[in-house]
Amino acid sequence: MGIFVRHLFSNDFIGSGPELGAAGFVPLHGPNDYLMYAGAGGNVRMGADRNKYGSGFFVKGNLGPLGYNRSLCIAIHEYGHYLFGNNHSTSGIMTSNGGLSINDMFMSGYEKYKLGLLDTLTADYSTTNSFSMRDISGRNGSSQTPDFPQILKVPITSTDFFIIESRRKISDWDVYMLGDTSRNDPFHLTGDYGKGLYIFHSNSIGILYAGNVDIECADGLWSWGDFGYENPDWTNADTVPVKLRTSLPSIVNNDAASVFFNNYSNADGISAGPWFSIGKKHVSVGQTGTDRIYTNLSEYWTSRERFGDRWDAWNVGYNEIFSPYSNPNTKDVNNDTTGIYIYYHNLANGIAQLKVYRAGFNGYNDSSILASTPPSRPMGLTLDYYVETENITHPMITWNHNKEPDMLRADTRKKYRIWRATYTNMNYVPVGYLSN
Ligand SMILES: [Zn+2]
Repeated sequence: MGIFVRHLFSNDFIGSGPELGAAGFVPLHGPNDYLMYAGAGGNVRMGADRNKYGSGFFVKGNLGPLGYNRSLCIAIHEYGHYLFGNNHSTSGIMTSNGGLSINDMFMSGYEKYKLGLLDTLTADYSTTNSFSMRDISGRNGSSQTPDFPQILKVPITSTDFFIIESRRKISDWDVYMLGDTSRNDPFHLTGDYGKGLYIFHSNSIGILYAGNVDIECADGLWSWGDFGYENPDWTNADTVPVKLRTSLPSIVNNDAASVFFNNYSNADGISAGPWFSIGKKHVSVGQTGTDRIYTNLSEYWTSRERFGDRWDAWNVGYNEIFSPYSNPNTKDVNNDTTGIYIYYHNLANGIAQLKVYRAGFNGYNDSSILASTPPSRPMGLTLDYYVETENITHPMITWNHNKEPDMLRADTRKKYRIWRATYTNMNYVPVGYLSN
C-alpha cells in the first residue's frame, strides 16, 4: 500500500526524525507483527521494519504539491529501499537529489544487475576482446542469434567492476536523461539525446549497495567554480547558484565517494549538480534555452545537468574510449591504474559493438592496446574569436590536450589535425571538409 500526501502544509504528521519533511519513507508504521489474516494455510503478518517483513511506502509533497511524475518516481525510490537497503547513490533509483527524486526511471544497469533481472555477460578479456550488447530493454533481440547480453560486466577484481549498458530508449520508460531538454518530464520526446552506453563503477559484493555507485559520465571530471546567481527557466522570482567547469583535475581520480552531491573538485556534472550550462538563456519562463553548440552566446541556460544531460552517455564519434588515459578513466576503487580499455567502436542494427582490452591479458600490453584503439577525446573544446584588426576576425579554438603517451609530437608539442569546411558562397552550409 502506498500513501500519497499531496502537499505538506506546515505539519508533517508522519513520524519524526529523518522521516520528518522527507520526500518519502518506508515502511508504513504500525504495530510490529500486526496480524493481517489468520487462516488454515497460516497467518499473514505485517512488520514495522525496513526489511523483507515490512510493507508499504509514504510519498509526500515536501517540495510543494506533488505532480504525477514526482509521485511516481518517489514511489519507485521508496520501493527501492526494500530492494537495496538504506543506501543512496548518484545513479539509479536510489538517487535522492530533488527533481523527480530519482535520476533514472529504468533503474541503473548496476541495480538491474544486482537484482539479477537481466542477462549479464562477464567480459573475459583473457580470451577475447570483442563483445556485443543489445538494448537494455531486451525488446530488440531476444530471438537474435547469438543472443547478445543486456549487461556487460568488466571485472577489475572479484569485487571491483564496471557495469555497462546500452540504452537506445526503445521503451518509453527508459529515461536516464531527466535534465537537459527533458526538463524533468520523463515522457517528453528528446530524440537521440540520452541514448548511448552508460558505465557504472562499483566496488561491491552482495545484494546491498556497499556505497555510492558512480556513473562514469562521458563529459568528464572537472573542477567547478562559482559564477554568481541566475534566474532558472522556471521562475523570475528566484535565483539559483551558477556552477560551471573551470579546469581539469591535474590527476583524474574517481569521483569522491564520501560526498555524493555538491562536490566541486574532480567531479562530473552529476556529482557537482549544476543547474546551468553555457549557451543561450531561455526567452521566457517555461521555455528552454539552447546549448552552446547551437549558439554563439555565452549566457547561462537551465540545463539541469544534475539530473543527466545529453553528454553523459558514451557514443561513437563523441567519446568512445574509456581507458587509463581518458577522463573519466578506468582506475580501480583505490585510484590505481587497471590497464583496462573499453572501446565503443560501432553501433549496427541496435547492437553496440565494443572492444575490451586489459594490459597483461590475451597477449596485449599497454602500447599494443594504444596502437589498436583511438586516442581519448580532448576535453574542454571551446570556440572564441580573436579580433586582429577591425576587419579581420579569426576563430580561436582551445582544448585540453589528451594524455596518451603515443601521440605524435613536433619537438615537445603534441600534434593535432584540424579540418575546416568551406563553400564557394554563403548560400549553402558547407559539408565535408578540406584537409589542413
Ligand atoms: Zn531514500
